[in-house]
Amino acid sequence: METADVVIIGAGVIGLSIAYHLAVSDSSLKIIVVEREKFPGMGSTAQCMGNISHQFPIRINIEMTRISLPYFKRFNAEMRYPIYLRQRGGLSLTARPERLAELKKTMSLLNKLDIPAELLSPSEIKKRHPFIHAGNLAGGIFCVLDSYADPHGVIQGYFKQARKREVEVSTSEAVLAIQNARGRVESVQTEKRRIAAGIVINAAGSRFAEVAAMAGVNLPAGLYRSQVYVCEPVPAIAPGIPMIVDIDTGFFIHAEKSGTLISGGTDLDNYPGWDTAVNRSLLDDFIEAAVHRVPPMQATGLMRVYVGTRCLTPDYHGILGEVETIKGFYCAGGFNNHGFMHAPAIGLITAQLIWKGYTSLVNISPLSPNRFI
Ligand SMILES: Cc1cc2nc3c(=O)[nH]c(=O)nc-3n(C[C@H](O)[C@H](O)[C@H](O)COP(=O)(O)OP(=O)(O)OC[C@H]3O[C@@H](n4cnc5c(N)ncnc54)[C@H](O)[C@@H]3O)c2cc1C
Repeated sequence: METADVVIIGAGVIGLSIAYHLAVSDSSLKIIVVEREKFPGMGSTAQCMGNISHQFPIRINIEMTRISLPYFKRFNAEMRYPIYLRQRGGLSLTARPERLAELKKTMSLLNKLDIPAELLSPSEIKKRHPFIHAGNLAGGIFCVLDSYADPHGVIQGYFKQARKREVEVSTSEAVLAIQNARGRVESVQTEKRRIAAGIVINAAGSRFAEVAAMAGVNLPAGLYRSQVYVCEPVPAIAPGIPMIVDIDTGFFIHAEKSGTLISGGTDLDNYPGWDTAVNRSLLDDFIEAAVHRVPPMQATGLMRVYVGTRCLTPDYHGILGEVETIKGFYCAGGFNNHGFMHAPAIGLITAQLIWKGYTSLVNISPLSPNRFI
């Protein structure tokens, strides 16, 4: 049997962030990341759009972005890999007064945490973004700090820097079982070997609940699909637009540097499961919502449609920290649509939890796995 100090299950953005930050905190640790796919970053992270947002109605999620953003800003220099961070802001829109009241609450919370966010009237929205149909809008909020970064670059940067610090990243090696004894985690059984370790971290993304179950822990983290529409550039929609979300339909749009439009969000009422086939019957809802809010979308053509999966908990919060019934078994999953943007914070926090036994960065009790146990 091999031994390691820490085994991390999953080489997605979260597993690699944890591996890197842990290796930086303690260079003497023997860390093994075990990944079932042939390359790191082939799970949800490969489908991710790279949005980094502060616009959450809940403090913990805002704080996780606040911890992460400076790391994304320093990433190119520190990790020596380009992630093309673009700070274009984020704009949330609604036509419904009661939803505008919710957005205003989010704005107040952001401002209370010293994060700039402003309320925009329909006419101001139209002035800034003439391509938006603002006629029926109640208003929106805008946060200038919201950004995008390239998920592939983030994976590569963490992977290379973790390897430089002698973290072993083993691909094409699925974890099949986790052994515990006397309330402690003891080892993991992969398809190639058994590794004894006092600390095992579940960063298995879409398979998070499945891996938790291997340790005998039942966590309610379901798998939900998101259908993404990659559309041709439209001259009326400049590449420099912010991330725009119509919270009434879920419709979102952002533009790549090339002008290619990444859009979707209108399949809010979907069902849990592994089904990643494109559902053509959802196209009408998407086109209706897109053309209503951004009429120039009529002129675009669909380049590609794909379906990604994200892992969601019943209270929409991620699951982070040690499981109280199994010493040494840590969770880092269920982060829905914000696992990428919060990956630096998750890595830093987990490294502190393991290194010091607590984290000084933020109160993570809302994310505790023990709320479900
Ligand atoms: C369409 C779409 C768009 C999104 N857009 C955004 C966005 O703009 N911003 C944002 O912050 N988030 C976004 N997300 C969410 C984000 O992609 C995820 O929260 C994030 O990638 C999760 O990272 P992860 O490392 O936990 O998971 P993953 O990237 O899935 O990595 C988990 C890894 O674990 C491996 N694994 C699983 N089981 C085992 C096993 N038994 N043994 C070994 N390895 C195993 C998998 O192969 C996988 O590589 C989006 C998600 C989707 C689907």
